[in-house]
Amino acid sequence: MTRWTRWWLRTHDPERNAAEYVTGELPRRARRWFEAHLLGCDECWQEVLLGRLGRRLAEETREQAPARLRDRVRAAVQLASSAGGTGVPDPSSP
Ligand SMILES: [Zn+2]
Repeated sequence: MTRWTRWWLRTHDPERNAAEYVTGELPRRARRWFEAHLLGCDECWQEVLLGRLGRRLAEETREQAPARLRDRVRAAVQLASSAGGTGVPDPSSP
């Protein structure tokens, strides 16, 4: 049993661990261990399925901003970055 495995078993948190797995935040070694763990842990398996479903629903319901708004945001970001600003538009400027 590796040090990481001992740590994992001590801090097993299906919701957090599955979220890290689904979002790709787990390091490679932890990911391999978690994938093997999934085969025997119903709690983690359910959390992974829920996490994937949630991500898919979020992707499907995402709406693109109107073109005019996108252009305004791009212009504000370019202006702020070229001027060395903070990225936050000055509300007092026209
Ligand atoms: Zn588990």
